[in-house]
Amino acid sequence: MEVYIFNHDYLYELENLTRVFFPNDKITVLKYMGGEDMKPPFVYTAITEDKMEARLFDGEFDKTVTAPLTDGDEELALMTLVFDLFTQYTGYVPKWGLLTGVRPIKLMRRLKDDMGEGEAKKYFREKLLVSEEKTDLACETEKNERKILDLSQRNSFSLYISIPFCPSRCSYCSFVSQSVEKAKHLVEPYLELLVKEIKKTAEIAESLKLNLETVYIGGGTPTTLSAEQLKILLDAIKSSFDLSNCREFTVEAGRPDTITFDKLKAILEGGADRISVNPQTLNDNVLENIGRRHTAQQAIDAFKLARQAGVGHINMDLIAGLPGDTIESFRSTLDGICELDPESITVHTLSMKKSSGLTAEGKQILKQEGITASLMLEYTKEKLSALGYKPYYLYRQSRMVGNLENVGWAKEGFESSYNVFVMDETHTVLGCGAGAVTKLKEFGTDRLERIFNFKYPYEYNTRFDEIIERKKGITEFYAKYF
Ligand code: SF4
Repeated sequence: MEVYIFNHDYLYELENLTRVFFPNDKITVLKYMGGEDMKPPFVYTAITEDKMEARLFDGEFDKTVTAPLTDGDEELALMTLVFDLFTQYTGYVPKWGLLTGVRPIKLMRRLKDDMGEGEAKKYFREKLLVSEEKTDLACETEKNERKILDLSQRNSFSLYISIPFCPSRCSYCSFVSQSVEKAKHLVEPYLELLVKEIKKTAEIAESLKLNLETVYIGGGTPTTLSAEQLKILLDAIKSSFDLSNCREFTVEAGRPDTITFDKLKAILEGGADRISVNPQTLNDNVLENIGRRHTAQQAIDAFKLARQAGVGHINMDLIAGLPGDTIESFRSTLDGICELDPESITVHTLSMKKSSGLTAEGKQILKQEGITASLMLEYTKEKLSALGYKPYYLYRQSRMVGNLENVGWAKEGFESSYNVFVMDETHTVLGCGAGAVTKLKEFGTDRLERIFNFKYPYEYNTRFDEIIERKKGITEFYAKYF
């Protein structure tokens, strides 16, 4: 899809909005200079002296919509016009309306602070064309999130540790993670260097008098490490950082096929108090479709084992919109998960990779997938709310089925502060390990600077000195802004 723009500069905004409706198409935004040959399918947008217009032509469908120029927000008016055109073309009305950003809750908070809750909701509904359902969800999530954000202080930080290995690769995964079958030889040297990086990071944090609020060991699948390796890792954290004010310590035990009693014991003895066991679905056929290489029963058994070992806070991750999943099967997955009674449940919506194209069939698939995932999320809200879970963090990605959202639901007191701090970019996150990103945040402002570690374990292992060198940036940042 080519998107032409004439006499305005809303390139980025138009590209994002076009992607909501045509998530699998290659989108090219071009400045129209006059006289070019525009080949279908294309969208043409223009702002002239007295009006704005948008035309969509795919070779058959050809429609132009216009609106008079007013004194209001020009960008919003143009996006509304294009939204209307795309809706007519696809027959699909995205529930998040014009909102294309990753963090709608941040926007809701800003609007509430500026204009109060009632007006903020009205702005979401009437200006941004967000559905009533999603406006209410954003409003409620913002309320629950705010309580956690208020806990963060000027010198707070969180620690993220990356274990970029998995037992095998899931088909939908977009993370940098290596199958341990292929990368086994890298694990031991990786762990050795990671311990060094943890110690160095702790020295820096101590010299800056930073206060560790939350720890998150993610990846990848940290429980691909053996119990002994987990012990080494956790001991390094415990002996290097002051954990006396740490309010949460999570180890992602994502793949049920990696969880053993010994590993769970090592995790608990190492000081962690929260794990995440991620079935994604309890439908074995769907698990096979996505290459998870474990069964639903294994996920249930892993959960029960974690309880037996004494884990008091277990989160479970699910995905709505997986290939081959139906509304009935999703319902039965959620019902099964709820029977286990985890403290928190995170429901993601699948991010698409496959192309469905700009064909009539493609449009139908787009619409149908969106409707199905949307019904799954409606059921989630109904079921989890009735059981006392509350939405406490929410984010969106591009190319999500139905342009929907990921939501963390938790029982009172079991919200993950780390998830909230990271999503809101509340305070500094010091990252260790391959693929980890250190995010340096100036308290109370929007200033955020990043220091990247190398993505892949082999780069991490061979260029470790450069990673340590880059850490100087942390001290420099704090010298400048604190
Ligand atoms: S377990 Fe998670 S990180 Fe690993 S491949 Fe699967 S989706 Fe990706």
